[in-house]
Amino acid sequence: MLAAMSTAPLPPSSQATAVARDRGDACPGSLRLHTADDGALARVRVPGGVLTVPQAEVLADAAVQLGDGELHLTSRGNVQVRGLRDDCGARLAEALDAAGLLPSPGHERTRNIVASPLSGLDGRGVRDVRPWLSALDESLCASGAARALSGRFLFALDDGRGDVAGLGADVTVRAVDDGALLTVGSADEALRVSGDEAARAALLAAEVFLDVLRETGARVWRVDELNLSPGELTHAVGSRLTAAGIGCVPAPNDRTTAEGPPPGVIGSALSVHVPLGRLTSRQWRTVTRVAAEVRSGELRLTPWRGIVVPAPGANAAAAADALARLAGTGLVTDTSSPWLRVGACIGRPGCGRSRSDVRADAAGALADAGRSPLPLYWSGCERRCGHPRGDRIDVVAAPEGGYRIDVVAQGRPARTAALDDPSHLAAALAALTS
Ligand code: SF4
Repeated sequence: MLAAMSTAPLPPSSQATAVARDRGDACPGSLRLHTADDGALARVRVPGGVLTVPQAEVLADAAVQLGDGELHLTSRGNVQVRGLRDDCGARLAEALDAAGLLPSPGHERTRNIVASPLSGLDGRGVRDVRPWLSALDESLCASGAARALSGRFLFALDDGRGDVAGLGADVTVRAVDDGALLTVGSADEALRVSGDEAARAALLAAEVFLDVLRETGARVWRVDELNLSPGELTHAVGSRLTAAGIGCVPAPNDRTTAEGPPPGVIGSALSVHVPLGRLTSRQWRTVTRVAAEVRSGELRLTPWRGIVVPAPGANAAAAADALARLAGTGLVTDTSSPWLRVGACIGRPGCGRSRSDVRADAAGALADAGRSPLPLYWSGCERRCGHPRGDRIDVVAAPEGGYRIDVVAQGRPARTAALDDPSHLAAALAALTS
């Protein structure tokens, strides 16, 4: 039985903010398309990355019939369709709605939920987070207040293994043996709640954040942008949970993290990595067919630009055969592939800010990247869109041409070097890390 926290007003230090946004977030959605240099762009929110086979087929049709034929995975396990004609918004919305991908138009940009992709499939983790995912998505879409969340606000539902718990979400729920740890932003202290109340507690935590914005006039998009002393928001959330009849107690946060799913056959699932997060419609349709054949009827897009296909009905031979077919399309199924260590933003020609075709340069330097001591992330400008969290080497196109490479690693001195030509990457990395 969990003890309840006492209620308390939000401390006055929350009146100031460290970050002030002078406009709403500009995140694209399914209904609010973004105009890019290669046409309009739609970002379809996929809570938990979970798509049914029919939904995946609708997305492929949309990419082929309305866009440039490719599907792009984002760092939150969502899907982007690019190269859309200016006049196709209504047709796209109609198709997504019919497929159940727009359950609440008013929340379409706020359904940002990542969940452990292998939950319930590989025997790891404390619990299957799927019930939390369904409950949180449903209650989010039913919450009028939640419409005010920014398109950048993120929920993470971690099954206890620590994979999505390391993604810096605004509200993280992590399964533990006797319930769940709820963390707001990067707070040191968590709140322990019962597993049955975890999804409701997550939504209430987000609503407390919105209350703070309203009460203080703060104009921020993310929890950690609030200028609160450590634990202030956690304390306010605890008070709200108590008032709502949800027992909670302060608990030390679990900081252990884990990487995303490696490629291969893992438990009763198939896992592939998608180079640079970009799939042709042929690759996408092959994954979709495999998902239908192994009788799961489901794909799980991961925040690490991968796809997990639950395969409960596949024996070892069938799983190996399916994996070989996926590899045959160019998807990565080998844990030694250098693609696992390389990422890139969209770059030229899709983004007008980009100084280079970063995806082409990243692909051209792939062999050298495989020998890098840290993962590499190529960006066309300093915004570094979609860069992964954690230690890495940033390769950023420079205004004067070429690239600048920076080691971004905790506990290592900051080091920078110039890369005049991507074909010289090996030498630049050697100089940078020697
Ligand atoms: S990092 Fe810069 S170049 Fe790359 S997609 Fe973002 S804005 Fe465009």
